Amino acid sequence: MNYGEWVLLQDRRGRNYLFRLKEGGSFDTQRGSVRHEQVLGAGYGRTVATPQGEPFTVHKPTLEDYVLHMPREATPTYPKDAATIAFLLDLAPGMRVLEAGSGSGGLTLFLARAVGPGGEVWSYESRERHQQKARRNLQAFEDWHNVTWVLGDLAELEPPAEPFDGVALDLMEPWVVLPALTPALKPDRFLVCYLPNLTQVVTLLEHLKAQALPYLHERTLEVIHREWDVRPPIAHPKFQQVGHTAFLVQLRRLAGS
Ligand code: SAM
Repeated sequence: MNYGEWVLLQDRRGRNYLFRLKEGGSFDTQRGSVRHEQVLGAGYGRTVATPQGEPFTVHKPTLEDYVLHMPREATPTYPKDAATIAFLLDLAPGMRVLEAGSGSGGLTLFLARAVGPGGEVWSYESRERHQQKARRNLQAFEDWHNVTWVLGDLAELEPPAEPFDGVALDLMEPWVVLPALTPALKPDRFLVCYLPNLTQVVTLLEHLKAQALPYLHERTLEVIHREWDVRPPIAHPKFQQVGHTAFLVQLRRLAGS
């Protein structure tokens, strides 16, 4: 552990606090402060405490922790959905995947990890400020130099000639970019759209039909995690849950166009 790294402190109630270790810095709570130097001295998996005796365990943030708490411009793809997108795209180390838009880089981090250092992520974003945030978020957490950042509107850009093993779209109107993108996806491989509203799902499927785009609609699903509070004799679903995030639409590209 070094100054400049992200660290996660967890309190007795399981609440998480993510911050970057700074020389001379402190983590301040209502029950006293923990100096960053204390955290560095303790190391991961150990406990630090404020002078008032409030304990915190010290952890290396997971990818999920980081994406939930990292600085953001656009709302990142929720981690449960990002992990499922990598699974629906059937990604493996060494593959090449295209995504848009980069946003805050949340989904980029999951895709970059799924394809690994030998793979490639091509991340398209139309807004420069968003692209910068995504680049910084990736560099600050885990950067295997396997991401190519492209600034511009995906509908107007020409994707690279070599087709991709997968495409992930987290943008408002995927049907606008789909026609130009289709040749960029290998036949029999997957494209997944992340859409918060069911009306977007319906519009997407209508466009596929009206434009006779060569895709099979494999499935539309929601990823629902129902967390429980289990502290015997208490054992019930948590009263506060993450509700709806988005629908995931999995399309498979057909050959022949
Ligand atoms: N998946 C991202 C993450 O995890 O941080 C969040 C994506 S955000 C919801 C949507 C992004 O798509 C915005 O940053 C927006 O500027 C970008 N965008 C929308 N339409 C686009 C297009 N046609 N080409 C490129 N980027 C686009």
